[in-house]
Amino acid sequence: MLLIEVSRIPPEGMDVNALLDAGEIHVAGETGFALAAGGTLACHVEKGDDDTVHVQGRLSARLGMECGRCLEPFPFPVDQGLDLFYLPHRAGEDDDAEEITERDLVVAYYREGRLDLGEIVREQLFLTLPMKRLCRQDCLGLCPACGGNRNVDPCDCPNPDVSLSPFPKLFEKGSSS
Ligand SMILES: [Zn+2]
Ligand SMILES: [Zn+2]
Repeated sequence: MLLIEVSRIPPEGMDVNALLDAGEIHVAGETGFALAAGGTLACHVEKGDDDTVHVQGRLSARLGMECGRCLEPFPFPVDQGLDLFYLPHRAGEDDDAEEITERDLVVAYYREGRLDLGEIVREQLFLTLPMKRLCRQDCLGLCPACGGNRNVDPCDCPNPDVSLSPFPKLFEKGSSS
């Protein structure tokens, strides 16, 4: 129910309360993260005189990700306020020609009279993703010598000289065995 026919938005607007479904928000094939069950979108959708659609509300979700250092899965909570404007995209119109300067909250257009809140959720999730995916800031990562997770199992391996090569010795280890 995340696909909204703009013409059917009543004058007083409409409330949308939805449980997030990976298919509906178009992240089912996503490899970078997984959507945990229980995520919600709660928003009020209103239509302006000029067919502008205003979406206000909150997105709450939990994503499962893999730590870039130790490769362990970790949860990433998303709790994001939404305050977004969408303009109708009319065929033949040049995007750049739109006068959107006084509305700097305009982020996108909707097409063919339909606004896909699922697509909006997907975009918002990607915007909140951290640049560095770490289970914790001081994650110790995997030992380049024995491959153990140094967060849970500190090993006594000699410290490899990483100054000689930007690549961990994992590559050598894989080819020699
Ligand atoms: Zn980690
Ligand atoms: Zn080790």
